[in-house]
Amino acid sequence: MSTRSPLPPPERLLLGPGPSMVSQRVLRAMSIPLVGHLDPAFLQIMDDTKRLLQMAFQTRNEMTIPMSGTGSAGMETCFVNLLEPGDEAIVCINGVFGTRMADIVERCGAKLCKVEAPWGRIIESADLKAALNRGTKPKLVAVVHAETSTGVLQPLEEIGALARAAGALFVVDAVTSLGGHPVRVDDWGIDACYSGTQKCLSCPPGLSPVTFSPRAVDVLRQRKTKVQSWYLDLTMIEKYWGNDRVYHHTAPITMNYALNEALRIIEEEGLETRWTRHQKNHQALKAGLAAIGIGLASQENHQLWSLNSVQIPGDVDDAKVRSILLNELNIEIGGGLGVLKGKTWRIGLMGESSSPASVLLVLSALERVLPRCGYKVEGGAAVAAAERVYG
Ligand SMILES: *Cc1c(COP(=O)(O)O)cnc(C)c1O
Repeated sequence: MSTRSPLPPPERLLLGPGPSMVSQRVLRAMSIPLVGHLDPAFLQIMDDTKRLLQMAFQTRNEMTIPMSGTGSAGMETCFVNLLEPGDEAIVCINGVFGTRMADIVERCGAKLCKVEAPWGRIIESADLKAALNRGTKPKLVAVVHAETSTGVLQPLEEIGALARAAGALFVVDAVTSLGGHPVRVDDWGIDACYSGTQKCLSCPPGLSPVTFSPRAVDVLRQRKTKVQSWYLDLTMIEKYWGNDRVYHHTAPITMNYALNEALRIIEEEGLETRWTRHQKNHQALKAGLAAIGIGLASQENHQLWSLNSVQIPGDVDDAKVRSILLNELNIEIGGGLGVLKGKTWRIGLMGESSSPASVLLVLSALERVLPRCGYKVEGGAAVAAAERVYG
């Protein structure tokens, strides 16, 4: 006896911390029949994706490839390939994802040195400088560009310069910035950078683009020990993505179709236009929320365009609001993570989700739902303020 299929689930407007909305073009690409992972036609797709990723990362790095796995696989790829037991590493921590990088560094058997800032604030370069002056000889300095747990955009240039001056590699998490904010790998001297497909690239989760500078590749080549992870070992994976085309693991064909199409969409839109779009929609959302007395929880002047960390007003019940939005209005927003749980909402405006329609919809939804949860709102004020930003 067959039971009713749970597919399809309801159609949601995805305004959380990822996955973001995916365009019809990408969904159609995912229904294209498979070819083999060594088929010459697939190899052409791989080469095209590499070129498009170099465009997205603003880099000429030869080693620029999508790892099989979500953003966390990219994070792990950077550390397991660059660190050997006994190495020192500095990790900047101001939220959940910095904490995770530190965890991975320790699992690599490396000596961890933390540079911390309160959640919701940027890492101050003076604090990194102080750590470097304490006599650490780090092999790498790692920082999160877009801290999705707090909505903070980290300035990278000074931190990168300090890392370089100390002879360390500069590792950057660009999971929530790539495709939404400028990420200039070559100009900013980034040595290893990773992202994920389901945030501003607007593709389903499943691949993790990474790029390694020639300096980072040298470090990889000079390892004395094998990379701790077999699956994420770039010395083997580069033989599949490079000219040798040697089998390592079967590339997720369908996900690669999706990423290629998503990157084509980005190329057609143009990176600059895309960044401006993300900025504008963030400004409109922020203005709309301010008009009903709701502020952002992240440091002024360092707020992400792709992820808005919103202060939950008064005694409003976090879970109740999110549940009404989801179940009655089919709008997903995220709750706070870690120490911000119950204190913030996370409204993602990433990739396809970053649009005037999303902003106006979520603001009018909040105007409607918040009074039911004990927070008085002047009807129409938020939407009107956002519309003024759009002009
Ligand atoms: C989402 C995210 C990750 C992890 O990506 P997954 O796809 O969930 O594995 C890592 N870093 C940041 C900053 C993220 O936002």
